[in-house]
Amino acid sequence: MRSCTSCDLHSTRTNGVPGRGSSKAEILIIGEGPGFNEDQQGLPFVGRSGKLLDELLAAIPLTREDVFITNVVKCRPPDNRDPLPDEVAACRPYLERQMELIDPKVVVTLGRVSMLRFNPKGKISEDHGKILEWEGRILFPLYHPAAGLRNPSIKRELQQDVLKLPEALRQSNRISSGKINGEIDADIITQAPNALVTHEDLKLNEDQEELK
Ligand code: URA
Repeated sequence: MRSCTSCDLHSTRTNGVPGRGSSKAEILIIGEGPGFNEDQQGLPFVGRSGKLLDELLAAIPLTREDVFITNVVKCRPPDNRDPLPDEVAACRPYLERQMELIDPKVVVTLGRVSMLRFNPKGKISEDHGKILEWEGRILFPLYHPAAGLRNPSIKRELQQDVLKLPEALRQSNRISSGKINGEIDADIITQAPNALVTHEDLKLNEDQEELK
């Protein structure tokens, strides 16, 4: 993908940033797109956001070697603007292939843009820290570390939310053992703070939204 020219971002990038980590990772972490430092080095999350991400992972405790880290778009959007819908679409096959190859149990999205890629009607302010089910995997949306760097209360939410990641991994084993299959598991409902919301619920919410 480093020589990809599928969207205009190729003309302003220094390096494409495919991602880095264990190809056997159970956890795939997906940011928005490379920033200045990532573009320079060709590696994901190597700037200040990356340092906070490392601290968050260390609290569980995990390191970068335990996970795979990538972005929705693999080339830096100029001035760190949000990637445009056609740029996200052009990069989609790369992310899909990474999902296929790594086959993660838990997909952690960082920030709104990344969450919307999986849950287009989601709201990061409501969905961060929720353990959701998405096409046979767990989807675990978090605020973006850059937002945490700008806002101390978001940083605190991130620090609390990330502590639920081990529980998200446990829930993923329930999915793979066939205990969930799109239906809410009674045991999970009783564990209120970590309640698992299924893809069916998301669809239901979408339907309800449409009725409004
Ligand atoms: N922000 C992102 O979303 N991704 C990176 O790789 C770095 C900063």
